[in-house]
Amino acid sequence: MFKALVVEKNEDGKTNAAVQEMSLDQLPAGDVTVAVEYSTVNYKDGLCIGPGGGLVRNYPHIPGIDFAGTVEASDDPRYKAGDKVVLTGWRVGEAYWGGYSQKARVKADWLVPLPAGLDTRQAMAVGTAGFTAMLAVMALEDHGIKDGPVLVTGAAGGVGSVATAILSNLGHQVAAVTGRPETAEYLTSLGATQIVARDEINETTKRPLEAETWGGCVDAVGGEMLARLLGQMKYGASVSAVGLAGGAGLPATVIPFLLRGVNLLGIDSVMQPYDNRVRAWQRIAKDLPMDKLEAMIVPATLSDLPTLGPDILKGQVKGRIVVDLNA
Ligand code: NDP
Repeated sequence: MFKALVVEKNEDGKTNAAVQEMSLDQLPAGDVTVAVEYSTVNYKDGLCIGPGGGLVRNYPHIPGIDFAGTVEASDDPRYKAGDKVVLTGWRVGEAYWGGYSQKARVKADWLVPLPAGLDTRQAMAVGTAGFTAMLAVMALEDHGIKDGPVLVTGAAGGVGSVATAILSNLGHQVAAVTGRPETAEYLTSLGATQIVARDEINETTKRPLEAETWGGCVDAVGGEMLARLLGQMKYGASVSAVGLAGGAGLPATVIPFLLRGVNLLGIDSVMQPYDNRVRAWQRIAKDLPMDKLEAMIVPATLSDLPTLGPDILKGQVKGRIVVDLNA
């Protein structure tokens, strides 16, 4: 028997999340059975744990869009018992049972071998948010980061924290945008060289172009923030659009694209091909300082999840929530 956080739909249509005991024969079919050691809480998980069920496709459901652990049994020649693995994406935790479980059974194609230099706890301190931050930085590099500070929005959140630490470690000046002034010390410790108040971006003139300021941007916020910062990018600079914590609308004009050659790069972590996932995890092991990663960790257990889910939706979490499945 093992423990999992199970979300069920009641007769009134509302959902309820609670820790339950399960047996291996209840797990879905799959090539690889993993003893899950760590998972995390991402924005999508907040939606799936919450009362509306968010992105959940079928009930009962085990949320958790990422996990790291040790292979227990495998029908696939790529993995054998004892291998350390990490999983992000592929709609695990939404359409398929995810990481809030001491055991998971998944397709071998969805897994990546844990890169040298990371243990399972560190891999989940990175998790989907950090993996996405790395993809966002790689996309900026592919298009060329211009001189000038690189802007990171939603900086105290998961994606923003990891993006700040990676960019700083790569030698870039990082301007961290936050709505929480009390996180300034934390963001500086991650390597931010400048703290920008959320309102400084949101409450600019709303002209389509303003002073050319930022050499690149990782944007976890979207909405009004993304619309405003597009007009502040240096000529030819790129914005990696990662998230919509501040809204899905985009009240922008085409002017920054036409007159400043700004690139808007969409980042999707879910359907990344195997080779890209391996490349990104190897870059994480190489370019993300582990002491800074440690400073981001908020430890949690399975039974904390019903409370932590709503917190992340309110933008109240700082850094990365790491769920220890054996605590
Ligand atoms: P977090 O909740 O950890 O961080 C989001 C941060 O955004 C908050 O900490 C806050 O930072 C800021 N924020 C929250 N609400 C608002 C608001 N109304 N206006 C402006 N800023 C706000 O989430 P993650 O970092 O894990 O994820 C960020 C976004 O990226 C989410 O939308 C998520 O769904 C998306 N995402 C996308 C992925 C992809 O594949 N494209 C993968 C992973 C995540 P602060 O207090 O510092 O301002």
